Amino acid sequence: MWRASVLTLFPEMFPGPLGVSLAGKALASGAWALDVTDIRDFATDKHRSVDDTPAGGGPGMVMKADVLGRAIDATAQDTAQDMAQDTRPRLLMSPRGVPLTQARVEALTAGPGAVLVCGRFEGVDERVIVARGLEEVSIGDYVLSGGEIAAMALIDACVRLLPGVMGAQASSAEESFADGLLEYPHYTRPQLWEGRPIPEVLTSGDHGKIAAWRRAEAERLTGERRPDLWAAFLRRFRSGSRMG
Ligand code: SAH
Repeated sequence: MWRASVLTLFPEMFPGPLGVSLAGKALASGAWALDVTDIRDFATDKHRSVDDTPAGGGPGMVMKADVLGRAIDATAQDTAQDMAQDTRPRLLMSPRGVPLTQARVEALTAGPGAVLVCGRFEGVDERVIVARGLEEVSIGDYVLSGGEIAAMALIDACVRLLPGVMGAQASSAEESFADGLLEYPHYTRPQLWEGRPIPEVLTSGDHGKIAAWRRAEAERLTGERRPDLWAAFLRRFRSGSRMG
């Protein structure tokens, strides 16, 4: 079973949004599992401190390597199935990380799950990142106050791709990023809303024309909104047509 193990200073934030709708139903039905470790449980001093001032000075606090290291070790052991080694990737949510993509989400979904470490304050002591082989993953070029929302975003993106979680399996094959393009626009009844009709082709019943229109719209939107994706799409398309 696909298992997410989250390490956080705020365990009460989970499952939160992951407990409702698609992800929540899948969690309740056992399609995936979630366990949450309170990093503070691994503090040993009488104040249960998890952070300290940065070496070299500067603002803010840094999460302690010793406390976080113990929390990671305990989590990986507790959740290993059949006493086998826990082979799940260990991810540290971090604005310095490799930006998360749908391709990476698909790869994670195909694996056994993930261990997700949520940072707080200025971040975590670099030595625990190296010593525990944490892979830094970012959900975008902006700074959150903690890794929890980033971890939820990653888990949500993975869980919806698990077999049987999404009602219509076909919908993931056509959506944004599946073939390097953004998705085409959607419409539903009423046919006329505030003087705006649904594009005629969509009510024509001609499935070939509908597919061609959607494809053209997906290409137009990608070109307009995401020149980076469009350039990559054209590169792949050209090298593909050279080969065949
Ligand atoms: N001082 C850090 C920011 C710390 S933000 C820096 O400048 O890089 C506190 C925590 O929030 C981080 O440790 C990380 O776990 C989480 N976080 C913030 N932004 C994130 C992002 N874009 N993606 C993933 N995690 C993020």
